Amino acid sequence: MTPPESYPETGHRYTYRSALVDRLRAAGQVRVGRLRLLMPQSLGFCWGVDRALAMVQDARQRFPDRRMWLLNSIIHNPKVNADMREFGIRFLKGKHAAPGALEELTDKDVVIVPAFSAMIEEMQFLKERGCEVVDTTCPWVIKPHKRAEKYVREGYTTIIHGTVGHDETRSTCSLVTHRGGHFLVVHDLGETDLLCTFLRGKIDSAELMAGLHPGAASEGFRPADHLDRIGLINQTTMLASESREIGNRLKSAMEPRMSELGGDFLDFDTICRATQDNQDATSAMVAESPDLFLVVGGFDSSNTNNLARVGDAAFVPAYHIDGPTSLGDVLTCRERPSGRLIQVKDWLPKDGPVTVAFTAGASTPDTVLADVVQRVLQLAGATPLDDFMV
Ligand code: SF4
Repeated sequence: MTPPESYPETGHRYTYRSALVDRLRAAGQVRVGRLRLLMPQSLGFCWGVDRALAMVQDARQRFPDRRMWLLNSIIHNPKVNADMREFGIRFLKGKHAAPGALEELTDKDVVIVPAFSAMIEEMQFLKERGCEVVDTTCPWVIKPHKRAEKYVREGYTTIIHGTVGHDETRSTCSLVTHRGGHFLVVHDLGETDLLCTFLRGKIDSAELMAGLHPGAASEGFRPADHLDRIGLINQTTMLASESREIGNRLKSAMEPRMSELGGDFLDFDTICRATQDNQDATSAMVAESPDLFLVVGGFDSSNTNNLARVGDAAFVPAYHIDGPTSLGDVLTCRERPSGRLIQVKDWLPKDGPVTVAFTAGASTPDTVLADVVQRVLQLAGATPLDDFMV
């Protein structure tokens, strides 16, 4: 495949910028026919994603004749992962994995570790095989890693506000267990309240563990023994307001243990800057009460899901879609909190003025967001926007 043209501002091939999105973002709002379009200042690709994609490009140039693999999805976006495959990069794990790929690996292969990082076991395996490793782990992901290591060194159990099975949280959990510590993952306020109920002595260990996601705790974790000294961190892409509330609730539930049992509670904010900026900008935008809010990103993207939850908190109809093909007479979106894909009828009023707010997750190319904007205009019977009309 011929690589796409370089984007003039950055000069690397894996950029997905859109002049239309740049202009809409700068303007904040624009009227087109009966539609008023809103877009926040901060959205889309974060620095960590840009950096990871630039590192992939550099690796391709440095090792033009060697087989190149991705350990798993480079980021949680279907378009970008499809582009990786078109560039001849194959996958070792995940739904696009080449069968038997792991066994085939030799010291001639180049393996790219995604921005979310990898488990210690995976890194050890690559080292044993002698592969050339290109580690694109985002420096923001190192922050929870470092803090978790500190908790283990100081004898604290690491409580992670995150998603069991998410690549970043898997890497953090693996680090904790390899350093000889224990972890417990809580996904939301409901699971936090269950943990708080245990900490207050109102339920037993079995009831606590039955209410958490399978795999939420480290092997050998015993609630009765491992929850006197706990330290909280967050997966970098969680909903910041929820993380703060989880910290408050845990602190309150820990107070009797801290005063009477020599327990301790530490809380360290590891939400990344891009996630925080995108959530803050989205929050300001949905305060204008748009008629509908479209959040564009891969269905497995944690930060995209949490941007939609910012809309929920403002009581705005918020739909997490993954691109323009999600939009038609019916809209296909990811339901919260179930994660199921559902179809919604009559999502776009057929006539009269409509305000539509847009944003995109940190792994969503601006080009995909631009296609979503144009699709909405088409479905509303408005004239498509030229890149330079805004
Ligand atoms: S969302 Fe945050 S942690 Fe993830 S790649 Fe981007 S900057 Fe890094």
